[in-house]
Amino acid sequence: MKYAIIIPDGAADAPIAELGDKTPLEAARKPNIDAAALNGRIGTVRTTPPGYSAGSDVCTLCLLGYDPAQYHPGRAPLEAAAMGLKLKPSDWVMRCNFVTIIDGKMVDHSAGHIKDNEGRTLLQAVAEAVAPAGTASGIKFHPGVSYRNLMTLSAGDLTKVKTTPPHDIPDQPIKGHLPRGAGSEQLLDIMNKARVVLKDHEVNLVRKQFGENQATDIWLWGQGRTKHMPSFKERFGVSGAMITAVDLLRGIANLLGWNNIEVPGITSYHDTDYAAQGKYTCDALDRFDLVCCHVEAPDEASHQADFATKIASIEAIDEHVVGPVIKKLQTFDQWRLLIMPDHATQCATRKHHEAPVPFLITGSHGKSSIARTYTEQAALESDLHIEAGYELMSYFLTMGKS
Ligand SMILES: [Zn+2]
Repeated sequence: MKYAIIIPDGAADAPIAELGDKTPLEAARKPNIDAAALNGRIGTVRTTPPGYSAGSDVCTLCLLGYDPAQYHPGRAPLEAAAMGLKLKPSDWVMRCNFVTIIDGKMVDHSAGHIKDNEGRTLLQAVAEAVAPAGTASGIKFHPGVSYRNLMTLSAGDLTKVKTTPPHDIPDQPIKGHLPRGAGSEQLLDIMNKARVVLKDHEVNLVRKQFGENQATDIWLWGQGRTKHMPSFKERFGVSGAMITAVDLLRGIANLLGWNNIEVPGITSYHDTDYAAQGKYTCDALDRFDLVCCHVEAPDEASHQADFATKIASIEAIDEHVVGPVIKKLQTFDQWRLLIMPDHATQCATRKHHEAPVPFLITGSHGKSSIARTYTEQAALESDLHIEAGYELMSYFLTMGKS
């Protein structure tokens, strides 16, 4: 059996007045997806469990069959997985932002979106001050993109520590928001040492000259440890691969024991090479039992409230990904395809929405008795509604087999 999953990120939406009260999925011309719906089953699935917000991390875990309540390791461990860091279960990992604090206020949570090379130089200086080479502090710093670094600790217990995301306190006093609770002393000490090195560092002096926000401090937050996560193969007996431009999804793929397949020309926007994403998905199906192709463009268009681009991206996914992938799947005896967004993203609010999303399963088994196209409304009207989203995966993998 061969399996493919195509995720048009954020494709589900609400009716839009300018589209004659149609949703982008209803307005888009998508002959391949609609033909697949007529030969398959549609329904709704709740990928945002109660009590969670509809983030791609939570929703994608759920979509891929992992209950976020049991397996979501927190943002920093996911980012560590995306960077390919190997953590022991006892290691702590935290976000380590470069920030601008002036007169005790959080002026900028990104230190002026500091450039990668400047951030790396500063992080090196911080590391030398906090954890000099040759000492066994167990503290390591890992440069990320721009201001988003990680710090790992192999000693200490941060279970009782409370931290605050720096973007939650714009222009507010940091007092009361610094790491607090038992075990926080170590973190405050690291932050104090960093402040001393960063003050008057050459990189900051140059930034000051150009009128850019200086990286006055590091801000530690979002701590977590990896949770034991059984691989996808262990759980479902199926090997997998991921195609995505988004780091968080690469991280999830790493945690699942999947291969990340690099695609030239892939981006998070409508300028992604849709045809290349389709072609690489087809090629990977020769090597893996299951291939997941994630396309971020509809989500990004929704965040811009750009429904025209959202429709264009759904149409491009239909033509350049779904069409070729179905053709490829049909060369195998037994196959199945799942198409669904991880969450809805509404052009009207520019935000993710936690409502259940429409899914479509088609393949060499399973046919609908009622013919419907793939839209939010048609999915609602079907009789298939999965409340615990993580249960969809085993349904997808085993439906019609027994
Ligand atoms: Zn998403």
